[in-house]
Amino acid sequence: AAFTRRGLATAAPTAAFAGKKGPNGKYTVTLIPGDGIGPEISESVKAIYTAAKVPIQWEEVSVTPILKDGKTVIPDDAIASVKKNTVALKGPLATPIGKGHVSLNLTLRRTFNLFANVRPCASIKGFKTPYDDVNTVLIRENTEGEYSGIEHEVVDGVVQSIKLITWEASERVARYAFNYAKDNGRDRVTAVHKANIMKMSDGLFLSACRQVSKDFPDIRYDEDLLDRVCLKVTTDPRPYNDRVMVMPNLYGDILSDMCAGLIGGLGLTPSGNIGKDASIFEAVHGSAPDIAGKGLANPTALLLSSMMMLRHMNLYDYAAKIENAALTTIAEGKAITGDLGGKASTKEYTDAIIKKL
Ligand code: NAD
Repeated sequence: AAFTRRGLATAAPTAAFAGKKGPNGKYTVTLIPGDGIGPEISESVKAIYTAAKVPIQWEEVSVTPILKDGKTVIPDDAIASVKKNTVALKGPLATPIGKGHVSLNLTLRRTFNLFANVRPCASIKGFKTPYDDVNTVLIRENTEGEYSGIEHEVVDGVVQSIKLITWEASERVARYAFNYAKDNGRDRVTAVHKANIMKMSDGLFLSACRQVSKDFPDIRYDEDLLDRVCLKVTTDPRPYNDRVMVMPNLYGDILSDMCAGLIGGLGLTPSGNIGKDASIFEAVHGSAPDIAGKGLANPTALLLSSMMMLRHMNLYDYAAKIENAALTTIAEGKAITGDLGGKASTKEYTDAIIKKL
């Protein structure tokens, strides 16, 4: 199919899908609609899946924290559902800023040890942006780094925030990145780092990448500094096509938003959080409180995340069919949402996709 883009697949040897169809011939998938625009974009995905007759039934759960033994935790039934189904589609969750709040996103990543966050970033043919042929993949370490949550006040006015890097997590995400490159026809892996400054932590990350690269003689391996990559990617992203960039947690968070800007914004970029026993697919963007409840949100990023999920579940034909319908709708430009320069509501865009199935 013309629009099927390499790089969206997540055929990961570490996360093979082991789900089984139920007696009704359908797989059960956990759906976490999330906050802000989450419920609206989840409705859109559900409507498209029903129209495309995807053999999936959704098990909808809420992850709104509850109080248990004096601590706020994610409800047990949500955790049990993801454990049982091993695959989930998740809307964005708002993270309150400040002391004393747990990040639900971080809690989910830790609970299921979702060690690799895969973020493909590819131009949509026919949708005009300064560069129209971007096709790169970022893989972000997803469990530690600056997100380890170890922070404390040393004395009044001085806080310390620990960046935690382990060989184990670095080696695991590096191996995932090389396997991903191999499985998806990408011939180069670049480790993105700041080891010039963070000599020990990023240095350890690089050592793990180097060691893993020896097991993949057919894949070129190199290293580049984060700041240099930012400059080079925005100057001309094309040299980053056909490769995979792997990096510590925070760098991946920031660089992927920057790359999203190159292809039309956060409304378009999908991601997959891959673990050994479960995988959770979600858009790169957040809960977009500024447009929530107005019917304006672009559901494409969540829809494309669900395409990654379908490919992970070996439902390739359904993924190609839905992806083609969505990308053709965007290319035609008649029923696109405001973030892409159009006037369509979430529902009008969804209906346009359904008509093309
Ligand atoms: P955001 O991604 O929610 O929004 C940034 C901008 O992009 C906003 O102007 C928004 O309207 C726009 N936008 C985002 N998604 C869009 C879509 N699908 N269609 C149209 N426009 C879209 O970032 P933020 O405002 O910094 O964060 C809001 C909340 O989301 C915060 O609480 C943050 O912590 C949380 N967040 C959650 C996740 C996640 O659940 N994985 C990721 C990022 C941010």
